[in-house]
Amino acid sequence: MAGAEVTEFKVLGLKMWQQVVLCLILGIATGFALGPEAERFKILGTIFINLIKMVVVPLIFLALVSGITSMGDSSNFKRVGIKGLGTYLFTALLAVVIGLVAGTWFQPGIGLQVNINDFASSAMPASSEMPATSVKDFVLSLISTNIFASFAESNLLQVIVFAFFFGTTMNMMGEKSVRARVMIHDFSQIIFRMIEYIVRLAPMAVFGFMAWSVGTQGVEIIKVLINLVGTVLAACLFQYVLFGVMILVIARLNPLVFYRKLVTTQLMAFSTSSSKATLTTAMREVQTKLGVSEQSSQFLLPLGASINMDGTAIYLGICALFFAQFFGIELHFADYAMLLLTCTFGSIGAAGIPSGSIIFMGMVLNSVGLPIEGIGLLLGVDRILDMIRTTINITGDCAITLLVDASEKTIDKDVYYA
Ligand code: ASP
Repeated sequence: MAGAEVTEFKVLGLKMWQQVVLCLILGIATGFALGPEAERFKILGTIFINLIKMVVVPLIFLALVSGITSMGDSSNFKRVGIKGLGTYLFTALLAVVIGLVAGTWFQPGIGLQVNINDFASSAMPASSEMPATSVKDFVLSLISTNIFASFAESNLLQVIVFAFFFGTTMNMMGEKSVRARVMIHDFSQIIFRMIEYIVRLAPMAVFGFMAWSVGTQGVEIIKVLINLVGTVLAACLFQYVLFGVMILVIARLNPLVFYRKLVTTQLMAFSTSSSKATLTTAMREVQTKLGVSEQSSQFLLPLGASINMDGTAIYLGICALFFAQFFGIELHFADYAMLLLTCTFGSIGAAGIPSGSIIFMGMVLNSVGLPIEGIGLLLGVDRILDMIRTTINITGDCAITLLVDASEKTIDKDVYYA
């Protein structure tokens, strides 16, 4: 991948992560100082996110196809693919269970005296705009009937299904697809290089987003839903530690190294609230700092950034229970089973963008008969919760990529411990 060839980009002698931390602090200070007026800095973040959006669909398609085809013999690809998908699915289910346990334990929705009508906002998606309200719809929505429309609408799940089909067909055609393989590889290198340039603007985006979210949402709004934020935070912390335990027990590597070396990636996720925007930083860091092979990182990370969202799974589970408690609706065993299913699907389907999972909340609440008006209540604190869950989402992608790479024995332990 191009990341390995590009030298560290410094400004005023500061490394990238130092620039990010500095801008994070400056952004928070500016938000507090200016209050709602800090809204004007949001554009700095929006410019960055739009640039990322511009290249992310071609990136995911090209990276997946070149990842699939560079796996060489298809048994390698199948093994890594099955391991990756299996682990992603397993951790998603586990994350929903963690969310449901935390929601039952901490009961965040009990004792809140909030009028739901005060929070229902016109920004709330209308139910007719909900993409998939049943499991059947969700399955059908995976298959594109017009791949150009899927690209144009950034329908990532459809693009991923198409990329899998395209890449495996190329593999099966063997020698006959050699020219296409070289071309796709070259195109993916160009896109990676473009992203390297865009990523240099990350500190600017971090500043803009932090100033805006602290300035406009402040601490008042958080107080209203402090129980919910606390519960999501506790469950996410548990999941965060669990990743470390998995790295220690399964890969037999020191997890502290993992946490320490991924600081920039985690801060990027925290401040942009977007797995997609963090993807390239993550790809570069797992390869150059953790010694993960190019094959695994090019294949498993884009896949993970699109379908593996453990923080989102936790969040959906907790919010469902929060609203059940809030509206005084009792849930039964069948409802919990349904939540397990819909929260897992929701975490797979959510786009890796800020508030990407909010619309899937409709599917989750719907599935157990909870009023979807509850979504309006969340909008005020969603950004803060999004920062937490996105950090968990991307940490999970990196942890699982590392685990699979270690099990394939393709990880470079000298780089990991360097
Ligand atoms: N913002 C999250 C992400 O990019 C998705 C979500 O849960 O809204 O990972």
